[in-house]
Amino acid sequence: MEMTAPKIYSDFGDSHRKVTVLGSTGSIGCNTLDLIGRNPSAFSVGAITGNKNIELLAAQAKKFFPEMAVIGDEAGYQDLKNLLAGSGVEVAAGSDALIEAADRPSDIVMAGIVGIAGLAPTLAAARRGAIVALANKECLVCGGDMLLEQVDQNNATLLPVDSEHNAIFQVFDFNQSEKVDRLILTASGGPFRETDITAMAKVTPAEAVAHPNWDMGAKISIDSATMMNKGLELIEAYYLFPVDEKQIEILVHPQSVVHSLVSYIDGSVLAQMGTPDMRTPISYALAWPHRMATPAKRLELEKNSELVFKTPDYNKFPALTIARDALKAGRGAPIILNAANEVAVQCFLEEKIGFLDITKVTEMVLNRLSQSTRQNSPATIEEIGEIDIRARGEAEEVARSLHAK
Ligand code: NAD
Ligand code: MG
Repeated sequence: MEMTAPKIYSDFGDSHRKVTVLGSTGSIGCNTLDLIGRNPSAFSVGAITGNKNIELLAAQAKKFFPEMAVIGDEAGYQDLKNLLAGSGVEVAAGSDALIEAADRPSDIVMAGIVGIAGLAPTLAAARRGAIVALANKECLVCGGDMLLEQVDQNNATLLPVDSEHNAIFQVFDFNQSEKVDRLILTASGGPFRETDITAMAKVTPAEAVAHPNWDMGAKISIDSATMMNKGLELIEAYYLFPVDEKQIEILVHPQSVVHSLVSYIDGSVLAQMGTPDMRTPISYALAWPHRMATPAKRLELEKNSELVFKTPDYNKFPALTIARDALKAGRGAPIILNAANEVAVQCFLEEKIGFLDITKVTEMVLNRLSQSTRQNSPATIEEIGEIDIRARGEAEEVARSLHAK
């Protein structure tokens, strides 16, 4: 895939930037607003969006006075409207309103919605030529070609926020990308890195959500525990950087200090390091191409002297192979992978299936849908939606059959 250096956003010097925060009530969203709140002269807030947490969304609106506050779940509209009565903040609800929030003029859109629900608003932000700070990896997994095409056609700028991809972005030489021989994505290994597979079968949602190094939303925390997160990130890296799938390696690095690495043909390996705090990569996107101060704890290497790197255990974490195979299978397969995984994670959180069933459901759904669906290259968001819905239906069915056992 052709990819050139990201375009320098010419209007930014020390100028003021207006930021739209999609998914403002989530972990990425709250961290983004935290940084904005610390730099009120540099940033203002365009629109914010949540899904169910009306109280938090209203509190954020009263603190940051965005032009618009959108609640994805329409049932929350009246309550949000009541909470924001007299505030001057426009209130809207539903999926079209999420797109409208992304569409409103602003300099940067933080794409911090979780799952494929973030795809349409993120595409809308790219379509109007915004700087898209991308945390929502699922939207690249499902609509990577489409998003890159919108970015390219509309002079938008795509900046990776996911810590590994942000790390690579910081050390990737876009002027000589053919001199890169490998990207090395690091993975903490999650809470079950040292747990044997029999014990993994019995873990509870609370145990799986408790990530050892990062404080994140429930879905990505479960994905980290199954290592599907690294599988999705492999696909994300494939779209973000001009390398082949074979050039992307995964290493387990339990300390989460080295956020990822780029290896060059001369033997140099460049890494970005830091304490595990998402405010560092978020700030990089907000200030890009400059840097801004963050309260992230400084890295004290003398206290982190042990930096371990290991090959992942592919038997314990089949998600890594399932995701790589999906990337190789065609454009439909990653959509199926993502949809089945979203459903399976939800079923696990609701204690309808066991932990090891999450990847089992995903693999079974990929096998159940036809080869032509896996190889399908959807040209529109509606076609992506059709594959997503079919995969979700299959995943519900597979999860029910496992639950019955
Ligand atoms: P989260 O669960 O904490 O927050 C998700 C946000 O999306 C919330 O604001 C929620 O209201 C909104 N949302 C959920 N479902 C929605 C729907 N159907 N319609 C509209 N809005 C909806 O998740 P998070 O941890 O902040 O992750 C957000 C994204 O960033 C994910 O794609 C995740 O993989 C990625 N990411 C997160 C981190 C992290 O540290 N949290 C790190 C890297 C990447
Ligand atoms: Mg990550």
